Amino acid sequence: MAFELACIECGANYDNSTYRLFCSDCHGLLDIEYDTPKSKEARIINGKSGFAGYLPMLPIRDPSNLVTMNEGDTPIVPLSKVGQVIGVERLHGKVEYFNPTGSFKDRGNAILVSVLKDTGVTAVVESTGGNGGNSFAAYCARGDVAFHAFMNQANFDSPKAKAIAFHGSLAHWVEGSKQDVYDAAEKFAEDTGVLHLRYGKSAYFIEGQKTMAYEIPNQLETMPDHVVIPTGNGSILMGMYRGFKEMLEDGRINHMPKLHAVQTEETAPLVAAFEQQEWVSYPGEPRSKANGISVKDPPRPRVVASVCRDSGGSAIAVSEESVLSAQKQLAELEGILVEPTSSAALAGVQSLRRSGRIGERDRVLLPLTGFGIKEPIP
Ligand SMILES: [Zn+2]
Repeated sequence: MAFELACIECGANYDNSTYRLFCSDCHGLLDIEYDTPKSKEARIINGKSGFAGYLPMLPIRDPSNLVTMNEGDTPIVPLSKVGQVIGVERLHGKVEYFNPTGSFKDRGNAILVSVLKDTGVTAVVESTGGNGGNSFAAYCARGDVAFHAFMNQANFDSPKAKAIAFHGSLAHWVEGSKQDVYDAAEKFAEDTGVLHLRYGKSAYFIEGQKTMAYEIPNQLETMPDHVVIPTGNGSILMGMYRGFKEMLEDGRINHMPKLHAVQTEETAPLVAAFEQQEWVSYPGEPRSKANGISVKDPPRPRVVASVCRDSGGSAIAVSEESVLSAQKQLAELEGILVEPTSSAALAGVQSLRRSGRIGERDRVLLPLTGFGIKEPIP
């Protein structure tokens, strides 16, 4: 299949036969580049009706290596009552917790595990414990990839950590901080030669997220003016941007929605990158309930900031209080129970409406990324 890997810093190219994250010249992150963007053979049928006749390009050489549970094709529902309260008439949510493990991460992990198979990787190590690891463990089980999951002993009783172990992952429990767990995983990788996945940095994961963008023209008569995205590593935002860009180049859609990244006030390095300011990290672990977007050191901060800018969008930080009240609003008014990480997007819409960046008549879409039942209910 016609694609290669290209360094986002120096532009060096690498072939697609091995799983790679970093440039061996400058250690920059790699992105996927398709040689023949319009060629039909670069597109893989994954058996989903929503993609009929129009398929995203995916970085897999042999389609028989695809590991899928028919993720994607999630519904879009109007959020009219919440929209009325916050003064946004045409507000919609894409219900990403309809995915097989209850979170958007399944889109990325389906492609990531498929690429592992496609490049002959049979075992990986990762420090984990959240929705991403939960989803990755499920796809590894399905795709016969051995998963060494390094997890914090303090999270032993959390449903997500238990699910990771229950899928048959090789659980390694570590006492200490998030960094200690990461260091233990890194040491294990060095000692054993097992691949350290670092899926938050992976271009393959981002490619899987593109499918979310591809479904939208099939579901909405008019494309949204704004997509407001809870953002930690930036993989949904990057995936959607790449998906919309491909569709624009193909003439499938006629404009790029404005992409807005939403972070919490506590952990807002991408907002700082967008505003071209320095972000100073804080000691200790994040305390926000929106733990999925509390990423202190995200990959590609400059790229994410430029994507927000190029699309005409923005990056904003919202308060903890507004995240929790948005979660309650969705549950009470719309019957939708999401994690605080997901309701941050709605808090973001409210803030963008107040500042006038979103108008009353604008069409707004937010991905509802993770199912609320997986987290303690306030
Ligand atoms: Zn490089």
